[in-house]
Amino acid sequence: MSEFPTLTILQHDLVDHKMTLLRKKETKPHEFGQLLREIALLIGYEITRSLDTKQISIETPMSKTIGRVVDESQIVIVPILRAGLGMAEGLHKLLPAASFGHIGLYRHHETKKPVEYLFKIPPVKNQLFIVVDPMLATGNSAVYGVDKLIKAGVPAERIRFMALLVAPEGMRTFQKAHPTIPVYAAALDDKLDKNAYIIPGLGDAGDRLYGTE
Ligand code: URA
Repeated sequence: MSEFPTLTILQHDLVDHKMTLLRKKETKPHEFGQLLREIALLIGYEITRSLDTKQISIETPMSKTIGRVVDESQIVIVPILRAGLGMAEGLHKLLPAASFGHIGLYRHHETKKPVEYLFKIPPVKNQLFIVVDPMLATGNSAVYGVDKLIKAGVPAERIRFMALLVAPEGMRTFQKAHPTIPVYAAALDDKLDKNAYIIPGLGDAGDRLYGTE
């Protein structure tokens, strides 16, 4: 059995292709953003494979029939700022009526621990919360964000996590803290370097997306 039973890595040639372009250091911020949105949409296809649906009666131009629909307003997309915003846009294309929450965290340069500057989510009912952060590196931000949702009253079974790249160290930390929450990503990379950057990774996702340094 895999070391990470809660991790799903997309097995898709188009995802691999777009990930290779995204990782390249020559890729410009506008191309990076476009690729990030496209990959998020493809991961979104997998993360939304099973949703709450209800049956409704409809009429096609030919006859009456029964169909299944998703109540998209019962899905909350929660990007961890900043880099989560780019991926969240891709997921939003797939779920245009979804609501949004935001978690603002930055990584303390010495401790590498997350420092919170924003937490805003819609009133908790029985929605499905999809937390979005491209880089699951140390796992500290991911654990922090999910802990905050649980403290706000969201049951663990109503949370899924969407990443782009996962480091084994971060996945170990996340799985220990949240052993039932599924994580979806485009790739599982090799390791972290001494500054907690993912290797081979893609550098700083926020900087690559917004052209900052
Ligand atoms: N955050 C990033 O943006 N990149 C990494 O490699 C690790 C954390």
